[in-house]
Amino acid sequence: MAHLFTCLMVASPLLLPIGNALAADASDIRLVVQITVDGLRGDLLHRYGPSFGPDGFRRMTENGVWYTDAHHMHANTETIVGHATLATGAHPSEHGMIGNSWFNRADGRLGYNIEDPDYELIPVPGFEGEGKQLDPTQALAKTSGRSPANLLASTFGDELFKSNNGRSKIIGISGKDRSAVAMAGHVGKAFWMSVETGAFQSSTYYYDEYPNWVTEWNSERPADVAIGTKWNLSAPIDSYLLAANDDRPYETDLKGFGRTFPHEFGAPADGLYYTQALVSPLGDKLTASFGKAAVLGEELGKDGIVDFLSLSFSGVDATNHFFGPSSLENEEMVRVLDRTLADLFAFLDKEVGQDHLLFVLSADHGMPEMSEYMAEHGHASERNGHTALADELNDEIEASLGVKGAIKAFFRPYIYLDHEGITAAGGDQRTIERLIVDSLAARPGISMAMPSVPFPEQRESFLEGPIRKNYHPERSGDIYVVQSPYSFLLDPGAIAVMHGSPWRYDTHVPILFSGPGIEAAKVARRVGTVDVAVTLSEFFGTTMPSGASGSALSEVFRRH
Ligand SMILES: [Zn+2]
Repeated sequence: MAHLFTCLMVASPLLLPIGNALAADASDIRLVVQITVDGLRGDLLHRYGPSFGPDGFRRMTENGVWYTDAHHMHANTETIVGHATLATGAHPSEHGMIGNSWFNRADGRLGYNIEDPDYELIPVPGFEGEGKQLDPTQALAKTSGRSPANLLASTFGDELFKSNNGRSKIIGISGKDRSAVAMAGHVGKAFWMSVETGAFQSSTYYYDEYPNWVTEWNSERPADVAIGTKWNLSAPIDSYLLAANDDRPYETDLKGFGRTFPHEFGAPADGLYYTQALVSPLGDKLTASFGKAAVLGEELGKDGIVDFLSLSFSGVDATNHFFGPSSLENEEMVRVLDRTLADLFAFLDKEVGQDHLLFVLSADHGMPEMSEYMAEHGHASERNGHTALADELNDEIEASLGVKGAIKAFFRPYIYLDHEGITAAGGDQRTIERLIVDSLAARPGISMAMPSVPFPEQRESFLEGPIRKNYHPERSGDIYVVQSPYSFLLDPGAIAVMHGSPWRYDTHVPILFSGPGIEAAKVARRVGTVDVAVTLSEFFGTTMPSGASGSALSEVFRRH
C-alpha cells in the first residue's frame, strides 16, 4: 500500500514542483530544430550506439522519446519524398512529391522535383563564374532554378509562420537542394550547398540578394578546407565494428576518391572535389557550420517567438550509395556526425538555452544492403538495368499486341504509357498493362508490378497501401514496379546501391523528440513519419498542415 501511494504521488501532476511544470510548457520553446539524417536507416542508432559520445545522438536517444519502429508509409522511399512527408505530415498522394524525378506528360520530358526556371540561383558574391561540376543526383534538371512550387501541401513551418502572422523565422539548410527546399516550405528560406563551388546558395524565390551573414560565411570558403588532404579514420581501426568492411570489390571509386581509407580528395579543377566533400564528413560539418551562422545572423530563438531551423545532413546517404550501409565509411560517417551534433547542441545551448530548444530527428528513408553483400549472406539478389527492361517490354507488347512504343518512359519505379499512341494504334491500355505486369512478375529480381488501378486478382500484400499512398494522377506513372528485396533496379552508373523501395529496410527510420519537460521513453509502437509534422502542429497549437494525415505522438506530450 505504501508503495502504491508513492507511485500515485509521483504520478500526480499536482505534486510536481512548479518549475518543472513550467519547463514543460510549449510557450517556453523559442527554437525548433528539426534534424534529418539522409539515409539513416532505423537500426543504425542501435548498431553504432556504443561508439557515441554522451552529448550527440545520445542526448536524444537517452533523454528524449525514441520511436524505434517508425516508418515512411509511402512506396517510393527517395529523398524529396521523405523530406516532403516529414515537412507536411502528408503522403506523396497529397503533397505531390512522388519521386526525385517524374515524367511530365505536358512537355514530354523527365523533370526534377524542385526545378523551377522562374527562380534562378542567386550568384554568390566572390564565386561568380566558378566551377562546372557534376552532381549525379541532379542530372535530370534542365535549369538551376529552384522553388517549392511543386510541393502541393503546407508544411509545419508554413503553419507556424501563419499562426503568428509571419513573426516566426523558418529556415531550411542542407547539402542537398531538395532537402532544404522541402523543409523550408512555402514561406521559409532555403539554402543548400553548390557542388560546383562549395558555397551555400539560394534562389530568387527566397531572396533578391543574400543577407550579409551568408556572404560573409561563404567568403571564407570553408568548403575548401580539405583540398589537398585525405579523409582519414577519426579513431583507431580496431575500435570499429565494421573494421573488416573497407576494401570490398563491390564498393565504388568516385573518380579517384578510392574504396578504402584514407580517401584522397581531388582538386576542384578535376571536377568532383565538392561532391567528394559531401561524400565525406566535411559536408555535414559545413551544414552544421552554416546552420550556426544562420542562428546568429537571423537571431533565431532570441525572442519569445518560436523559430524553426531544419538541418538535413546528407553524408550518411552518400556513403551508403558509394560504399554501402555496412561499410567502414558508413560507420565513420555516423560516428563523426555524432561529434558534429554534440558540437551543434553545445552551441545552441549557449546561444538559445537548453530550456528553449525543441529537437526533432528523423530520416528521409532507410537503405538496402548491397546486392553482393546480401548474396554473401545467403540472399538471392539481381541487378537489372531499367532502360533495357523497358526496351524488352516494348518489344514484347509489339510482338503480341501490335502496338509500337507503348512505353513512353520508365523512370524507376514508374512505367509511363503512351496513352495517345496506344489509342491511335487501336490498342487497349488495360490489356497492355496486364501484359507488362505478368511479364515483370515472371522475371528474376522483380517482386511485383501494380497498375494505378490494381487488377482484382492481384495478391494481397502490404505493398499495395504504400504504392497507393505514392500515387498522384498527374505525376505518377501507370505501373509501379517493385524489385525483389535487395535486388537493384537501376541502370549501372556511379552508385552501387539505391534506396527507393517499399521494403522495410527502406521505410524504417528513427523518430526522436527531445526538449525541456519531455519524458525519456523508448517506444516500440509502429508509428509513421506523417506523425512528425502533426505532433509539432499539435505541440504549438497551429493549424494542421493541409494534407496531414498522421496523428500526434502522445508520448511527446507526457511531462515529468
Ligand atoms: Zn540517396
